[in-house]
Amino acid sequence: MSTEPASRHFIQQIIDEHIAQGKWGEPGDRTVVRTRFPPEPNGYLHIGHAKSIWLNSSLAEEFGGTCNLRFDDTNPAKEDEEYVESIVRDARWLGLRWPGIDDADDRAGVLFASDYFERMYEWAKQLIGKGLAYVDEQPSELVKQQRGDVNTPGSNSPFRDRPTEESLAQFERMARGEVADGGMVLRAKIDMASPNMNLRDPVMYRVVNAPHHRTGTRWHIYPMYDWAHGLEDSIEGITHSICTLEFEAHRPLYNWFIDAINKDNPEPIHHPQQIEFARLNTTYTITSKRKLLALVEGGHVSGWDDPRMPTISGMRRRGYTSRAVRAFCADTGATKFNAMVDVGRLENALRDDLNKRAPRCMAVLNPLKVTITNWSEHGDADRIEWLEAVNNPEDESVGMRKVPFSRELWIERDDFMEDAPKKFFRLKPGGEVRLRYGYWITCQEVIKNDAGDVVELRCTYDPQTRGGDAPPPDEDGKVRKIKGTLHWASAQEALSAEVRLFDRLFNSESPGKASGEPTDDLNPDSLTVIEQAWLEPNWDDAKPAALFEDGIARVQFERLGYFAVDKESAAQALVFNRAVSLKDSWAKAAKKP
Ligand code: ATP
Ligand code: MG
Repeated sequence: MSTEPASRHFIQQIIDEHIAQGKWGEPGDRTVVRTRFPPEPNGYLHIGHAKSIWLNSSLAEEFGGTCNLRFDDTNPAKEDEEYVESIVRDARWLGLRWPGIDDADDRAGVLFASDYFERMYEWAKQLIGKGLAYVDEQPSELVKQQRGDVNTPGSNSPFRDRPTEESLAQFERMARGEVADGGMVLRAKIDMASPNMNLRDPVMYRVVNAPHHRTGTRWHIYPMYDWAHGLEDSIEGITHSICTLEFEAHRPLYNWFIDAINKDNPEPIHHPQQIEFARLNTTYTITSKRKLLALVEGGHVSGWDDPRMPTISGMRRRGYTSRAVRAFCADTGATKFNAMVDVGRLENALRDDLNKRAPRCMAVLNPLKVTITNWSEHGDADRIEWLEAVNNPEDESVGMRKVPFSRELWIERDDFMEDAPKKFFRLKPGGEVRLRYGYWITCQEVIKNDAGDVVELRCTYDPQTRGGDAPPPDEDGKVRKIKGTLHWASAQEALSAEVRLFDRLFNSESPGKASGEPTDDLNPDSLTVIEQAWLEPNWDDAKPAALFEDGIARVQFERLGYFAVDKESAAQALVFNRAVSLKDSWAKAAKKP
């Protein structure tokens, strides 16, 4: 019986066919598959890039091939080492394993397009020699005008038919730095009347007299994406060059460049297959690097790794696991149609993973004091009772822990209501609730300050309910029942922690849709900081951290959500980020009239 999943996405099917035909090697040899993830180092990776990493790396894994990490560093102006560093870190975290990867050496096996500049330059000169490229010295405005538009054919540049020696000499001057920025370009000689605008003598090289973060001042010309990308793929022996749908109309050019190099060439270069798929778009999210940079530079977030950012570093800091991110990417699959994915599905993927893996713990975010007035009637007034609590009902192997119960406790302010409606099953005057793993308590008296705010509840506990269990039946055989169960913390022992709650960064499903400016749709309440929450005292980062491959501690605060220890957290100053609530409150809000 086949173990393959019932439906394979369209790229898997294309590759299956190639392998059956032997397009890249012996028919049936699956290991020939070579893919790559080709980021430009001009920003941090985001959820869209995760999709590309998932797609490229899962194909390589499935077929037993390889997936390269290659920087498409062809534009010196916007690129930076900081971005290279963060991208390598994030790609690793997401599970990308490129050939030559080495845990002891960050950069081992990492590839850079800039290492191919020399070869690209030689190929460009060959194209000029074959009469397939020329140097155009017209101002860029004019070049643009002559391109025409979809309804009007373009017109030829007066430089189009200049002698090849002349183009060659000018191209070498461009490369040596003898030409000002924008002074000349190298263009492919294709067809100014092509219905495909990309084929109207596209620019291959432009002059940029700026240092490059890796090649320094070696180059004064830089290749355009369409010229460079296929060559990078070819050099690396990529079989399937996967990109997003916008590049569909660029595919003829991708092929033209490689065919042009191979024309009359006794040693033709490898010709990869470009395949386009629909980019990932999620609601309430922006994934343009330019717009994300504007959020950072405008101070709307604390940085690229602000937990509200859709960047991989932001999501990691917030508490996302790479497993959840990959599961989401796999779940939404690879398609040919652009669609908007509900960001709630991403959050659900995280809930699913953390439900299985995050240990449980009790924390009170908005505390109200409870005093057990009959505590001294059943023992020493100062005693602390250590009660058994389950670490994770989904995972027996992580065992039990003990939580302290004593005369003074914290409960959540929201869990008490003075004038409660009938269906309010939490604490109310005269009402009884279960404190999870603790005891059943009954509210006897409500204490208020002069302003009329509730500041304390005086309650009695039933010593027969130890552990939260129901007491034995009374004389008439009646069993007392209870509906509400609350989380709590023992006031004396509790640890103080700062807790950061996040909501969506934007109020609009398509941020910036109305005005063009995503910042117009910022959610003013996307961050709530609780400076003093109370956490059960046996907290130790190390134990939950060990449960996750990246060593970041994540936990479920019972009834409140999943939380991760923030990078700013310290032993005496704990800081937690809420990764995701237990339920999707937005889905609920949407259903309300
Ligand atoms: P830019 O706006 O700078 O072009 P980019 O998002 O295309 O940004 P790249 O660094 O060129 O950034 O992207 C690297 C790879 O990630 C490319 O192969 C690109 O197709 C892919 N990618 C980027 N965004 C998405 C997305 N939303 N969904 C799927 N793949 C994406
Ligand atoms: Mg791009």
